[in-house]
Amino acid sequence: MLVVMSYRATPEEVEAVVAAIEAKGYTARPIPGGERVAIGILHNKGAVEASHFLGFPGVKDVIPVTRPYKLVSREFQSEDTVIQVGDTPVGSGHLTLIAGPCAVESEEQCITIARGVKAAGAHLFRGGAFKPRTSPYSFQGLGEEGLRILARVREDTGMPVVTESLDTDNFDLVEEYADVIQIGARNMQNFSLLRRAGRSHKPVIVKRGLAATIDEWLMAAEYIMEGGNTQVILCERGVRTFAHHSRNTLDLSAVAAVCKESHLPVIVDPSHAAGRRDQVIPLSRAAVAVGSHGLMVEVHHKPEEALSDGAQSLYPEQFEVLCREIRAIFDVFQLADSV
Ligand code: PEP
Ligand code: MN
Repeated sequence: MLVVMSYRATPEEVEAVVAAIEAKGYTARPIPGGERVAIGILHNKGAVEASHFLGFPGVKDVIPVTRPYKLVSREFQSEDTVIQVGDTPVGSGHLTLIAGPCAVESEEQCITIARGVKAAGAHLFRGGAFKPRTSPYSFQGLGEEGLRILARVREDTGMPVVTESLDTDNFDLVEEYADVIQIGARNMQNFSLLRRAGRSHKPVIVKRGLAATIDEWLMAAEYIMEGGNTQVILCERGVRTFAHHSRNTLDLSAVAAVCKESHLPVIVDPSHAAGRRDQVIPLSRAAVAVGSHGLMVEVHHKPEEALSDGAQSLYPEQFEVLCREIRAIFDVFQLADSV
């Protein structure tokens, strides 16, 4: 249920409605909008009596929420959320490019790649210090040393860094170093990790689970927002299908659907969807055309020597081509939107 206040409502009238919601044992979540405040009602067990709130001064309307998720939905907030990461806005009207290797392997590797992707147009650097690997015998990441390397990359290039937290045990440590915390596909329904991310003050990227429906993915984001962290970025990274021509199937219709359902920024990771370098640029073009607010792309200067995901990593020169092409595509759509 959503209580929509009149644009003339005073702060005291908003406060009175919040108090009335809380007096009933529910949670009130005021959502400031461009023109008026709405107050979301959360944690109600049964139906909420709309007429009770309609009588309060300053209340314009009481609207039932039809979706299972609330805070992430456009029913709760119609305007797009834009998240600020350093100097970089993520969301509506912006195209944010995140690039870097799958895993942090050494300082020399990261600095070389970071300087290359920055020159090409990347805004944020990515690299895993803790890696979720299918095999326990595969490279698991450098751990805290990897995080220290990311901090040096930030110092050297000025780029904010994105890195993954694998579990609640290492969340505090990752949070200390990261500018944006990634929750990987395999952890999309790790509810204790989502709750911990909900208590963070850092933006969080939630990657779509390998076989997650859109509702499940949005519910994962809802966990984080319910905890109080409104800085959530959704990332489509391909889902598992019967196809063998790519590692996963990039679900671009999910991007279109989520942009309609949710006000949160949605980005696309074409690298893990493709699993192979030759599909990354074509998928990136399509992602931008469908309305993605950004891309997260794996880039390596020596992919044949990479300790993980070398086959899907672009060479820095290819990333430069990608940036040029997708900027042109993005500009066409911006122009179309403005006429
Ligand atoms: C990654 O970003 O390196 C990664 C492991 O991605 P995903 O969780 O989407 O598989
Ligand atoms: Mn990877």
